[in-house]
Amino acid sequence: MRIQKAIGQISQELGSKARLVAVTKTKPIGLLREAYEAGCTMFGENKVQEMVEKHEHLPQDIAWHMIGHLQTNKVKYIAPFVALIHSVDSLKVLKEIDKQAKKNNRIIECLLQVHIAEEESKFGFSEQEVLELLASDELGTLKNVRIVGLMGMATNTDAETQIRKEFRGLRTFFDSLKARENEQVSMRELSMGMSGDYRIAIEEGSTLVRVGSAIFGARH
Ligand SMILES: *Cc1c(COP(=O)(O)O)cnc(C)c1O
Repeated sequence: MRIQKAIGQISQELGSKARLVAVTKTKPIGLLREAYEAGCTMFGENKVQEMVEKHEHLPQDIAWHMIGHLQTNKVKYIAPFVALIHSVDSLKVLKEIDKQAKKNNRIIECLLQVHIAEEESKFGFSEQEVLELLASDELGTLKNVRIVGLMGMATNTDAETQIRKEFRGLRTFFDSLKARENEQVSMRELSMGMSGDYRIAIEEGSTLVRVGSAIFGARH
């Protein structure tokens, strides 16, 4: 009941501006089923094995979104079914996604993760690196991936102005990349916003919010 209520409320806030990816990492299948019955059809996981197991046990019309750092040697396990990979953070992993997508005779849609937070992080491209990747000849050879937008995580802080500034910066960059669209690259999805900051993210132009604890309660 609580899950259904939370999903209803968040969906109402999103309206037609953004869509909800329910972040289900660490949560048991029963709760995912509840979310599904409440109308959620996009689930986000950050671990390959957990996503594979849950995918096997749940309805096939669920779109599985990978939101966590992806190791190259694990891409093959999700390649048959993953709907969107939010967390592409290197050319190396993009090449592997292409290879595995080809083996599965499909095209996998990806977002490039951009590092926008103040905190140090191993993951995510700089804007400069994104520009280099989009300009590289090698990207043109990766026929089984499509880059459909960007993902970013704001600094973990209560300072709203800081969060807003980071989201706005990513939105501006996203818009600037529309000039570089081609058959492989489109700027359709801007994945930003989590439980603590999705309201700000929507105001700043997010199209996909990734919300976990506001739906399912805190993770342990
Ligand atoms: C866990 C996670 C989320 C959801 O976080 P909540 O604060 O529980 O909403 C969103 N995005 C990523 C990349 C995550 O790892």
